Amino acid sequence: MDLKKHIFDIPDFPSPGIIFRDITPLLQNRETFSYTVDLLAEKIKDLNPTHVVAIESRGFMFGAPLAYKLGLGFVPVRKEGKLPRESISASYDLEYGSNTLEIHTDALKPGDKVVIVDDVLATGGTMKATVELCEKLGAKVEALLFVIELLALEGREKLAGKKVISLVQY
Ligand code: AMP
Repeated sequence: MDLKKHIFDIPDFPSPGIIFRDITPLLQNRETFSYTVDLLAEKIKDLNPTHVVAIESRGFMFGAPLAYKLGLGFVPVRKEGKLPRESISASYDLEYGSNTLEIHTDALKPGDKVVIVDDVLATGGTMKATVELCEKLGAKVEALLFVIELLALEGREKLAGKKVISLVQY
């Protein structure tokens, strides 16, 4: 199945010069959605993780069904101020300003093995901060899983040393 046919390119969204990769066509079609989740599951099944960690908000759309399919726990990494209990945070720089991500302190513990899921790998800053959060809680990060990888932004280099898996590349 050619997933790219179900990922729409939206020029100049959300700002001029950005080509937004819109995954909603892929989600709304039952064949492509289940095919994508099955393919993600296939890529990590030999790693025997204990949890799927996913990044707000589009990472949740793939991470939650993936965890369900594999019978694993699901851990959300959320934007600042959204989690209700004791959390730790990691910040990273954007072109203008910075972003902060958070995880509940009791979400993971030493001995846990996680795969982290997001929709798009661009510069890698979002994923790098998420790796830091998981490792701070003592979990082992087994793989970083993306539906889409934007090769020109070289995000993979920022994630050096980790197993990076993507389903489609641009
Ligand atoms: P980065 O931290 O630069 O790797 O950016 C990754 C995050 O930004 C992901 O959570 C994506 O959802 C989002 N993102 C970045 N670039 C795009 C793009 N061209 N299309 C859709 N989402 C993007």
